Amino acid sequence: MVWNKFFNPRAVAVVGASDSEGKVGYSVLKNLIEYKHPRNIYPINPKSETVQGLKSYRSLLEAPDGIDLAIIIIPSQFILPVFEDCGKKAIQTIVVISAGFKETGIEGAKLEDDLVKKAKELGIRFIGPNCLGIIDTHSRLNASFSAGVPPAGNIAFFSQSGALCTAVLDWAMGEKIGFSKFISIGNKADVTEIDMLEMLKDDADSDVILGYIEGVTDGVKFMQKAKEVSQKKPLVILKAGSTASGAKAASSHTGTLAGSQKAFDAAFKQANIIKAESVEDLFDFALAFSYQPIPKGPHLTIITNAGGPGIMAADACEKSTLKMAKLSKKTVDKLRESLPPVAALYNPVDVIGDARADRYKNAIETVIEDKGVDGILVLLTPQEMTDVEDIARIIGDLSLRSNKPILASFLGENAVKKGIEILNEKRVPNYSFPEHAIRAFEAMVKYEQDIKRPSLRPKRFKVNKKKVKDVFDSVRKIGNFDIGESEAREIISAYGFSLPKSVLAETSEDAVSIANKIGYPVVLKVSSPDILHKSDVGGVKVGLQNDKEVRDAFQQIMINSKRFMPGSHINGIFVQEMARGGKEVILGVTRDPQFGPMIMFGLGGIYVEVLKDVSFRIAPICEHDARAMITEINSFPLLKGVRGEKAADIDAIKNSLLRLSQLVIDFSEIIEGDINPLLVKSKDEGAIAIDVRFTIKEE
Ligand code: ADP
Ligand code: MG
Repeated sequence: MVWNKFFNPRAVAVVGASDSEGKVGYSVLKNLIEYKHPRNIYPINPKSETVQGLKSYRSLLEAPDGIDLAIIIIPSQFILPVFEDCGKKAIQTIVVISAGFKETGIEGAKLEDDLVKKAKELGIRFIGPNCLGIIDTHSRLNASFSAGVPPAGNIAFFSQSGALCTAVLDWAMGEKIGFSKFISIGNKADVTEIDMLEMLKDDADSDVILGYIEGVTDGVKFMQKAKEVSQKKPLVILKAGSTASGAKAASSHTGTLAGSQKAFDAAFKQANIIKAESVEDLFDFALAFSYQPIPKGPHLTIITNAGGPGIMAADACEKSTLKMAKLSKKTVDKLRESLPPVAALYNPVDVIGDARADRYKNAIETVIEDKGVDGILVLLTPQEMTDVEDIARIIGDLSLRSNKPILASFLGENAVKKGIEILNEKRVPNYSFPEHAIRAFEAMVKYEQDIKRPSLRPKRFKVNKKKVKDVFDSVRKIGNFDIGESEAREIISAYGFSLPKSVLAETSEDAVSIANKIGYPVVLKVSSPDILHKSDVGGVKVGLQNDKEVRDAFQQIMINSKRFMPGSHINGIFVQEMARGGKEVILGVTRDPQFGPMIMFGLGGIYVEVLKDVSFRIAPICEHDARAMITEINSFPLLKGVRGEKAADIDAIKNSLLRLSQLVIDFSEIIEGDINPLLVKSKDEGAIAIDVRFTIKEE
C-alpha cells in the first residue's frame, strides 16, 4: 500500500540532508534520527562522507536498496533529476518539502507541472511541494522540520498551510493532546486533500480527522469522499480564504447572492462535514470528539459550583440547538438527599461555592443515571476550599466509566491549571469558557444526527425533457442566451411547475380581449429581452380590474419602458392571470466553479438582495436537503404562519426545489436563473411560478 510507504517506510532517504544547524535539511534529518525507531536513514549529500553522524551517499543511486520514502529538501530546480533517480531505485513515495514552485509564480508553476508529469510517468506519488513534511506518531516517523512531536493519539490533521501545521503542533505539544498523523500537503501538486480523506478514512490509528483547506481540487469528489469519511468518523474542517474571483457581474439575484463561501458551506452540510469557524473551533471540537463518546441526543445538564457561570452556560445552551435536560423527579429527589439545602436541584444543578469533590461526585453520579440526560457539562470556579485536583480526578474517573459525554469548564488560570492537566490525562476535554464547551457539545450532537439520517437519492420527477431541449436549441439558434419570460415559462412548465395563464399582446385592444378571456383581475408586464427587472422600469402593473385599466396600463408600460430603457426591443406586453394570496419566495440556480450547479432558496420579492436571508445546496439535492434549505432561513417562521395565519405549502416549495435541481442537472447549459417570485399558497394549495429567467452558456 502506498500510504504505508509514506507513513511507515522501512528505510528513508533524505535528499539534501545537512550538517548546518538552521537549515531545513538539518532539522528534517535530526527529527528523523531523534524520533527513535528501527528504520534505516540514508542522508544524501554529494559533499560529505557523513551527515549528523550517519554515513552519507553522494546520490540516491549510490544508497542501499529497499528505500520506501525519499524526502527532498534541495532547491526546486534540481528536483526533477532526483525524481528520475527515485524511478531507478524503485522509490515510489516522495515528500517534497522544498518551496519555489507554484507559490512563486509562472516559472515555479512550470517546475511543479514537470514534477507532476514525471511522477505520473514513473508511477510515483508525492506529497508537497512547499510543505512542512509528515509525522506519524504510531510508526514513529517524523519526516518534517517541525519543532517537536505531539504525543501519540487518535487525531489526524492534514493541512494546506504549513504555518497552521506548526500552530496545531504547538498546541498539541503544549496541551499534551494525542495525534496520530500530521500531514502538511503544501501545494498538493499530486497528493491532495481528497487522497487524505481516502487514506484517513481507513486509517485505524485515526478516530477523528481535522483538516485545514483553502480550496479543493475537485468539489464533487471532495463531497463524495468527505461524506464517506463522516459516516465512519468525525471530519472537522476549517476552510479559509473566501472569495475566488467570484466578482463577475451576475445577471440574476441568485448569482449576486452566491459565491465560493456559500458553495463550501452548502457542500459541508451535504457531506456531513463538521465546520470549524476558527482555529479555536478546530481544537475545541477535536478534543470533544477525541476524548468523549458521542451523545445520543441534545439534552445537556450543567453542574456548577457558581450561579453566574451556570447561567451563562444555560444561556448559551438556550441559544444553540441543544436542550437543557429536564431532570426526572427521581433524580431531583436523590440530589436533594446528597446536596445541601441551599443547592439548586434543577438544571443547572448548583452544588454551591463550598462544594468539594464528594459533592461533585454525588451530583454527577446521580445526574448521569437520568434517562433524560444525554451529556453533562461540569463547571468549576476555584474558591478557597475547592479541591480542584480531587474534583478533576473524580470527573475523570466517572467519565471513564460512563458512556455519556462529560465536558468540563474550569474557569480561571493558576488555581485550575493542575486540575485541567488531570482532566486532560483522563480524557475529559476542558474549555476555558462554558460557551466553547456548549459549541463542542452541539457539534457532537449535530454530527450524530447527520450520520444517522438515511441518505436519500435525489427524487426524479416525470418531466418533459425533450421539450426543454427544443427550447434551448431554438434560443441558441437565434443567439439568445438570456432567456426571458416566454421561453423560460415553457422550460419550467415542462418540469412540472404551475404558471399563471399568460398571453402576449401587441396592442392595447389585443390586451383587452385577452384579459376578458383570462378573467379579471389581470397583470400586465412588459416582454423585452433587454429588460431584466421589469418592475424597476415601471413595466409591471398588477390588479387591473377592467378594460379601461388594461388599456391605460398598456400605454403606461409602453411609455415607461421606452423612457427608462430607450432603444430596448419590446416584443409586446404579457397579459397574465393575477395570482392572489400566498407568500413570495425565490428559487434560484447558479454554477459554482468548484462544485457545479447550486440551488438557492429564500423569501422572495424586492428585498432578497438586501436581507440576504437565503440558503444554498449543491445540486442534485435530496428531499432532506430541500427541507433543510427551507427551514434554515431566518424568516422560516413567516412560512409556518404567524398570528393565526395559515402555514404556507412547504411541500410545494420542497418539490419545486427538487424539480429545479433536476432541471439543472439535466441541462448543464443553464448557468444562472431565478424563479422570483414563486407564489406559495396555503398548505395543500400549491405554488405558482410568477416570474422566471435563465441564462445559458454561449457555445
Ligand atoms: P420583475 O421581477 O421583473 O420586476 P415580476 O414578474 O416578478 O417582474 O413582477 C413583479 C412583482 O409583481 C412580483 O414580484 C409579484 O409581486 C407581482 N406579480 C407579477 N405578476 C403577477 C401575477 N401574475 N400575479 C400576482 N402577482 C404578480
Ligand atoms: Mg420577479
